[in-house]
Formats: sequence, structure tokens, C-alpha cells
Amino acid sequence: MLNHNLITYHQAEHHLPNAEIHPAAVKIIDKLVSHGFDSYLVGGAVRDLLLGLHPKDFDIATEATPEDIKHIFKGKCRIIGRRFRLAHVYMGSSIYEVATFRGSDPGDRVMKKGQIIRDNVFGTVDQDAIRRDFSCNALYYDIHEQTILDFAHGVLDLKKGELRLIGNPNLRFIEDPVRMLRAVRFHAKLGLDLTPEMKQDIINNRTNLRNVPTARLFDEAVKMFHCGNMEIAYQVLVELKLFQMLFPAAAKIAAQEPIWESFLLNAFGNTDERIKNGQSVTPVFLTACVLWLEFLPIYRELLDEGKNSHDALHEAATRVMIRQRDYLMIPKAIQNGVRQMWMLQLRFKKMFGKGVYGTLHHPRFRAGYDFLLLRQSVNKDLSPKAEFWTNIQSMSPEGIKSLIFGKKVKRKKLSDDL
Ligand code: ATP
Ligand code: MG
Repeated sequence: MLNHNLITYHQAEHHLPNAEIHPAAVKIIDKLVSHGFDSYLVGGAVRDLLLGLHPKDFDIATEATPEDIKHIFKGKCRIIGRRFRLAHVYMGSSIYEVATFRGSDPGDRVMKKGQIIRDNVFGTVDQDAIRRDFSCNALYYDIHEQTILDFAHGVLDLKKGELRLIGNPNLRFIEDPVRMLRAVRFHAKLGLDLTPEMKQDIINNRTNLRNVPTARLFDEAVKMFHCGNMEIAYQVLVELKLFQMLFPAAAKIAAQEPIWESFLLNAFGNTDERIKNGQSVTPVFLTACVLWLEFLPIYRELLDEGKNSHDALHEAATRVMIRQRDYLMIPKAIQNGVRQMWMLQLRFKKMFGKGVYGTLHHPRFRAGYDFLLLRQSVNKDLSPKAEFWTNIQSMSPEGIKSLIFGKKVKRKKLSDDL
């Protein structure tokens, strides 16, 4: 391979911690190499290891075709993907993405406006490198030689702390608009700077996100939600006018009403904190938080029209989900989870009688309760309710019984507002 841009870094220079590479990834690479196929660890794993972070996954790039990979790993391999055909190799409970080096033209199917919809032409490692998005994502680690092959000056950019697109940024954002969201995510997650020029390119190209399948946008939004630094990501998404491309109604309300902007920032900050502490997270939670901004005024409007609280809640939820569908497709299971979390906000109003047990044992109680606390952080009127549901969780069964059935319990008519 002769490539004038290639810089090769040896172990003494790059200090990549080999012990951090998952043994199963090493096993897959070993097996491909033993069949005569050049294969490397690539992408986020190499980048994160150089930055001293724990990689989320270990992607592999190889000269073996998907069919070769399937043949080598037999029952443990599935070929997936339409836009990029690649192999999933199963090892234990994990899945590893093994992608064949991609080349360029003439196999690309490019839409009128320059967006690539399919590219399945196989190529060499250096061709593969320049098709990747950012220079720091185009590093190839040869686990046997322990060398990093760097075709796009990714190591230097990492040292400078800069996120740089490979090639002409404007064209690369048109080719695949999702790269704009990836740029924000890597900036937030890795602390790599976005240059003013890149920011301007993103602002200029933001409407191209409309050409991306809405299901893919939801996947990207979730990756953003859970990047570990969503509080920062949100602010950059707003600055670059991308948040409004994903959640237009919420973006408008948050821009006009500081209290709702605080609500979102608190929600994102909470999730960042949970991720830092290794606690579990679900896409349902932040989806429910963001859509709440649009939901609440519709709910109140329906109450004013004379609907009862239960019907108003479900109708408002349905309207929000339908409107959102044009921008970003929320899977049915997530929609149901969001509805349940919102429904619990109604149930939390009832702090006496048998229904309290049903609320406490509701499968989404935890998420609903966290959501209540979040709402309380910007609305102190909710404090008595938040206190009740906090205290009851640490009470004995007898204590709960006397609290919810006791004589002193006020059974005043509940208001329908949330
Ligand atoms: P992480 O897994 O931490 O989110 P990553 O960089 O590994 O980050 P993946 O989505 O796993 O991201 O993709 C693996 C690699 O595939 C990337 O590092 C990049 O080289 C390439 N890649 C992914 N998406 C694109 C894209 N839209 N355009 C060009 N290259 C891409
Ligand atoms: Mg990855």
C-alpha cells in the first residue's frame, strides 16, 4: 500500500492500552487475519482508547467481504444493512460490527441533491479511511504490529483537541446530514472543538436533516441523549439550530420561556449524572421530558374544552406523537412508555385510598417519580406531592396504611391540572 498521506505510529509513540481491547474483538481480528484478510480495529474504539476513555463498542474493518466473513464465522454471523452492507459477528452476549473496506464511485447511488443513499463498492484500507466522517474516526489499529495507520492526520487533530471532517465539510454534510448530529455528539462527549467554519457549515446545511429517514434521526437523538454530556450537547444543538430540526415544538417553547429551558437542562443534567454514576438509562425518559413541553398546553386546552383528565391526557399524547412523526419517528414501544410516565403524573395527584398501592407498584413508577421531581424543580407548587411520593417509599406497610386510609386524610376534589 502506497499512500503519501499515511502516518504510521508505533506503540512507543501512541501508547494505546492494549489490555483495554475486548478479547472477543481480538479473537475476531485474529481469525480474519489467519484466513489471510487484513483486518483492523477502527473507529470510535481507537479514538476513545487514545483519549483514555472506555470504548462503547469495538468496530472492525477488514478486506474480507461480508460473504467471506459469513463463511469464516458460520452461524455466528449475520449480514445486515442496506445503505452499508456489513457483518455482525456474535461473541458471547455481544455483537461486533465487521465492515468491509469501502471504495468510492461508481457504485454510489447519489440522490439529486448529493446525498448518498447506498455505497457498497469494496475498496482498500486507504480508500476506506477517506470515506469515514471525522479524522479521529479514521484511525486503524493493527493489533499484531501494534501500529496505528493514520490516513487523515487524526492523531494530530486529537492532540490539538479538534474535530475535523475529512474532505470538504460542506459536501460531506450534504452527502450524509447525520454527520452534523455526530459532530455535536463527539464535541459534547469528547470535548473536541468545532471550528467556527464547521459551525457555519452546519447552520447552512441544517435543513438537509429533513432528507434523512425519521427512524434514523430517532436513533441519533437517543445516542445524543445518552452521550454522557447532553447538557452541553443541547446548548450546541440550539446554537446550531439543530434542536429545532428534531423537536420543533419543544425548541420554540424552550426558546420563549426560560423556565422550560431550565426544565430541559435539568432533565439532561440528571441523565448525564446517571450515566456518570453507571446507572441505567432509557430513551423513554428524555423523550417524555422533551415532548412534555408541547404536550402540556394541548392537555390544558382539551380540559378547557370540557374533556375529562384521562381523555385529555391520551388525546394530547396522541396529537403530540402524530405531529412529531414528521420530524423524528418515535418507535411504538417508546411512545407507550412516554404515555405511561405522563399518566402517572395524573395518578400522583391521588394521595389517599387503595389507588396509592397501584401507583406505587406501577412498572414505570421509578421513571414517573423521577419525572415528578424534575417537574417540581421548576414548579414549587408540586412540592407537597413530590414529598408525599418520596416519603411513602421508605415507610412501613402499616405506616402507609394509616397514611392513606387515616381519618385525617383530606379527600378534597382533585383539580384536573397536572
Ligand atoms: P461511538 O460508537 O462512540 O458512538 P463511533 O465513531 O464508533 O462512535 P459508530 O457509529 O460506531 O461511531 O461508527 C463507527 C465508525 O464508522 C466511525 O468511527 C466512522 O469511522 C464510521 N462512520 C459512522 N457513521 C458514519 C457516517 N455517517 N459517515 C461516515 N463515516 C461514518
Ligand atoms: Mg462505535
